[in-house]
Amino acid sequence: MGDEPGKDRVPVHPVPVEVSATDDQVPDFQPWLDRIKEVVDPSETPFLTGLSRWLEVKWSNSKSEFLGVTRFELNPNELMRRRRMGAPSGPVLIELNPILVEDQALLNHTFVHELLHAVGFTEHDVRHSELTERLAPAPSLSNSPVLQRLRSVVIVGQDVQGWICGNCGNKWKRSTVSRPKRCPNCARADVNPYDGSFKG
Ligand SMILES: [Zn+2]
Ligand SMILES: [Zn+2]
Repeated sequence: MGDEPGKDRVPVHPVPVEVSATDDQVPDFQPWLDRIKEVVDPSETPFLTGLSRWLEVKWSNSKSEFLGVTRFELNPNELMRRRRMGAPSGPVLIELNPILVEDQALLNHTFVHELLHAVGFTEHDVRHSELTERLAPAPSLSNSPVLQRLRSVVIVGQDVQGWICGNCGNKWKRSTVSRPKRCPNCARADVNPYDGSFKG
């Protein structure tokens, strides 16, 4: 049978998708900075003033595992100090994954997420996600070719085909990215990866 319940072989990192580079221009940040300015309090966005001078936007390397990344040149302590002083952040680079050219809504969502970091929302807190959703809501899975593609790659890329319950022996095929919390048959939280065959 080869069943080895209890042995966790789910890789921690999803396999990167193959993304081709793009000749498209990176999106213009200025219209988004203007919209951000309309909905925030200036005290929330210490790095917004003069940001256009420091900000660079690039497509990321096509092997990047991230949809978007914001990199400040200064270290976090120095950034904190600047924020308290109301001083500019210094150079900041936003990288967007070229896979996003296939998906305008997800591109906008990712770009706004990163721009909000750049203007001073450096944490992933409630305010950061509320503003992202307000300015550029995430597309639903059914409206997003890229999310669908990433999701199927994550499922296929992790070599787990199904799950087996360590309590009742119930086996079921994998349909979600993450491991289910409970067995759908006996509701016990004893779900393990299963790579054997399925009856029926
Ligand atoms: Zn983020
Ligand atoms: Zn069970």
